[in-house]
Amino acid sequence: MTDFIPFALPDIGEAEIEAVVATMRSGWLTTGPNAAALEREFVEALAPTRHVREATVQGVAVNSATAGLHLVLEALGIGPGDEVIVPTWTFTATAEVVRYLGATPVLVDVHPDTLNIDLDRAAEAVTPRTKAVMPVHFAGLPVARAELAEFASAYGLRVVEDAAHSHPVDSEGMPVGLGASDAVVFSFYATKTMTSGEGGMIVSADSDLVTRMRTMRLHGISRDVFSRYTSTAPSWHYEVVAPGFKYNLTDVAAAMARVQLTRSVAMRERRSAIAARYDDVLAGLPVRLPSRPAHPQTHHAWHLYVLRLTEDASMGRDEFIQRMSDAGVGTSVHFIPLHHHPYWRDLRGPDAAPLPVADAQFQCAVSIPIFSSMSDQQVERVGETVRAVLEGRA
Ligand SMILES: *Cc1c(COP(=O)(O)O)cnc(C)c1O
Repeated sequence: MTDFIPFALPDIGEAEIEAVVATMRSGWLTTGPNAAALEREFVEALAPTRHVREATVQGVAVNSATAGLHLVLEALGIGPGDEVIVPTWTFTATAEVVRYLGATPVLVDVHPDTLNIDLDRAAEAVTPRTKAVMPVHFAGLPVARAELAEFASAYGLRVVEDAAHSHPVDSEGMPVGLGASDAVVFSFYATKTMTSGEGGMIVSADSDLVTRMRTMRLHGISRDVFSRYTSTAPSWHYEVVAPGFKYNLTDVAAAMARVQLTRSVAMRERRSAIAARYDDVLAGLPVRLPSRPAHPQTHHAWHLYVLRLTEDASMGRDEFIQRMSDAGVGTSVHFIPLHHHPYWRDLRGPDAAPLPVADAQFQCAVSIPIFSSMSDQQVERVGETVRAVLEGRA
């Protein structure tokens, strides 16, 4: 048998390796010049003009998207008694950060086409305690921007976008990261669309929010380590103004991310080409292919390529996964809906509203490999293997 094709692999080249090694040789390993440069460059890559960028948008580098989501909610003042609307079709990180602050995530159902939050269901979930909504741009397909802004303003909610799957993409002509939301959080986890091993970036145009997040990112110290050691104030002096966290990004990780950032559009285009090939190869099989953006100026990041087996398939999702694995192709499931996990099920209690779309889609959803370092040969083999399994030949 030919080599196993893993479900996901990072796309790391010599330039990333050299940047990391150079940082290791530099004598500065923790948050420093690379992290500061990454914050600047990340925002520069998003912002269409220098004017917009300097007037408003700032980046806050963190050691994970989870940390970033937590920092945003903390800075927004989310706390006990508050409710935050979260789609059930996400990774547990999106909801767990709400619990860190003693608030309650209210899980809502998703739209069967996009698997993104269904804003009609979200509207039904709003109560006087609802403070914020956390949409997830699932798989890299942005939530419709105009509808999201309309929903949030109708109910007076803060918006924190979980953009862990969606860099770099435009949504209705404007990059995810800019726009009306309070903050947008990206992930640099090893399998995401750009990586620093572990890491993340918060982007926000609210300077008060950014100031609070920068302080809470590093122990509630009012200036970060780098400026502490390089400014003209006495280097030993600092002030603790809050019980903060330890969420800063190392310069070793930032060095890797800076190189990945320069490649991020090319890596997205490679994934787009893979998705287009899968669409062709899998046409006519008993599978529902991923939704395409409805708006002509919206990209798909193609972090995931999620198939839904239809009623006509001769096997269920679990058997499909087993046969794919036997034939040498890794797959995964995104996501086990949060309300299927014991912690979230117990928290919601026995009388919680049903989430029937997520329940049904979970039965048939399966993610096949899509990463920018896949060879054409691997892409062909994945397509052919899906075809063979569904046609009963493997
Ligand atoms: C990966 C992921 C996160 C968490 O990202 P980390 O950087 O690993 O903390 C959050 N939300 C979603 C939807 C994710 O897929």
